[in-house]
Amino acid sequence: MQRQIAYPDALDFDTPGRRDYFVRFEHPTSWGDFLIPVTVIVGPDAQTGRGLVAIGSTHGNEYEGPVAIKNLVHNFDAARVTGRIILIPVLNVAAFKAGKRDTPEDGVNLNRAFPGNALGSITYRFADFVNRFIFPQVHAVIDIHSGGEQMRFAQCTSFHIVEDPAQHKAMAQTARDFGCRFVMIYQDKTPGLLTSTAERQGKITIGSELGWGESVNREGVSMARQGILSAAIRQGQMSGDLPKNEHCAAGDQILVDNSDMACYVLAPFEGHYEPVVDCGERMSPGQLIGLLHDFDRIDVPPVELRSPHDGYLLCQSWHAGVYRGEVAAVVSRVKEWPKP
Ligand SMILES: [Zn+2]
Repeated sequence: MQRQIAYPDALDFDTPGRRDYFVRFEHPTSWGDFLIPVTVIVGPDAQTGRGLVAIGSTHGNEYEGPVAIKNLVHNFDAARVTGRIILIPVLNVAAFKAGKRDTPEDGVNLNRAFPGNALGSITYRFADFVNRFIFPQVHAVIDIHSGGEQMRFAQCTSFHIVEDPAQHKAMAQTARDFGCRFVMIYQDKTPGLLTSTAERQGKITIGSELGWGESVNREGVSMARQGILSAAIRQGQMSGDLPKNEHCAAGDQILVDNSDMACYVLAPFEGHYEPVVDCGERMSPGQLIGLLHDFDRIDVPPVELRSPHDGYLLCQSWHAGVYRGEVAAVVSRVKEWPKP
């Protein structure tokens, strides 16, 4: 297949059919371009401003999204598309090439750079492209993440609390369709998030943490595929039956909330983290989560990190070494599902 190399303003989101692009962004120093792969599939009933985009590699060292969406690019049944589907397996191509969370060229985290800036450094230009050229074409946004080299997760999808009840309900349903055991409500204070930017534009917006450790988690790839196809069908962009749930049954799914910063257990000093319980375990107040060792003081016993409240251990440090003030673990509180 020959991909068409195009500037952002040359993409065709309206003519029925499938188009595979490399969207070009001039390299900040050398003669050449960063090329972001973007597949646009438009069906006969596509409506202005309605569609679904699935994005992988907002962070360059998280791999379930890129693998699942690349597989969809190869296998997508375009004949079933009635509306508009946009697939971006690797958004931050610069960070992905380096295998790093952030963009090496400017040191910026793409998931802190939204809504972006067309005249900014390369990461801000990527964000601006998504915000000004992709978001106006869609009403549903799926951003696939995983723990990278920082956190080990109980796999989850995630969304923020929004005021519009219809948007909230649609987001909860879309999040559940991935089949993760946990659906996480998370805080919306961090500036520059892709998902927050889409949400404020009224879009059904889902984030996720489908693996960890800079690896490819088999279940995570399957969850991403299931969730993206389910959202495409439920949101009226694709015909056919919902894919079979291969993962956690709906009745066993747990809604958790870690929008309160009290859920975040910080390392009180620089040390080595030893987990005592596994991610996904139920925690009671004061229960031991893990131990922080100081190998500069080999004869001093480790400090105990304990659960701040009742809930579930959603994630904890993947790497052994943690800095003072780094999040070592997150204990999320249980929430009621929104009424059907
Ligand atoms: Zn991420």
